[in-house]
Amino acid sequence: MLSSFMLTVLACTQEAPKGCDPSGDWSDWPDYVDGHQFLGYAWCADDGVDLELDLASFEAVGLAAAGVESDTVDAMAEWNALANPPTLVVASTDFSSPVSDTLRADDAAGTTTPAHSFDGFNVLVAANDLDPGWVGRVAVTKSWYDESNATQETDIVVYRYALRSDGTAEETDWAVASTPTAGQADLLYNQVHELGHVLGLDHSTYDASIMFDAQPDGVEYPGLAPGDIAAVEWLYSG
Ligand SMILES: [Zn+2]
Repeated sequence: MLSSFMLTVLACTQEAPKGCDPSGDWSDWPDYVDGHQFLGYAWCADDGVDLELDLASFEAVGLAAAGVESDTVDAMAEWNALANPPTLVVASTDFSSPVSDTLRADDAAGTTTPAHSFDGFNVLVAANDLDPGWVGRVAVTKSWYDESNATQETDIVVYRYALRSDGTAEETDWAVASTPTAGQADLLYNQVHELGHVLGLDHSTYDASIMFDAQPDGVEYPGLAPGDIAAVEWLYSG
């Protein structure tokens, strides 16, 4: 297993990821890899993807900062263990002082727009606010792409309250850096899923996949499924 990953690394360093070549032959781009569609395209540089983790926003909705940070770092480690995708990094835990990132389209420093607008920074924030555009969602990842199909920015919002279709609110009981009990949602599980979107994956139809579109309550993060690994390795293979 290890040696096959090493071979993949060598191939990857010689060519851009598949999503980065707008003039490329797209005929070999499958709609699915083991149930996965692709949300968009790949990051085109291999020097990592920095995210600003806004711990203050998590504390503001009652989630402990240290636990949120450890769950997020642990979630990044799951994807970073794979050979091909760019390394995910928590570049800052203080979004009031965003850091620059060579992968970003611009350095629009100074804005503290939390998420869901293109500001040149990859942010991971929490919000109490109900977002009427995302009924039933406990977290949302939104990405922007440039004309060459390269990922330019990805923002994640984790919600404390999900909006039901009838317009009422449902509080999510997040298990932060702990094993979820009945009725709790495992934050680590959620972070791995949303970071899968950051890397360009859409939802899987397989409920064993971390990219399945619903997270079961009371269930601890089960690890990446073979399809999760195959999809992201394919997306970032040359
Ligand atoms: Zn999702």
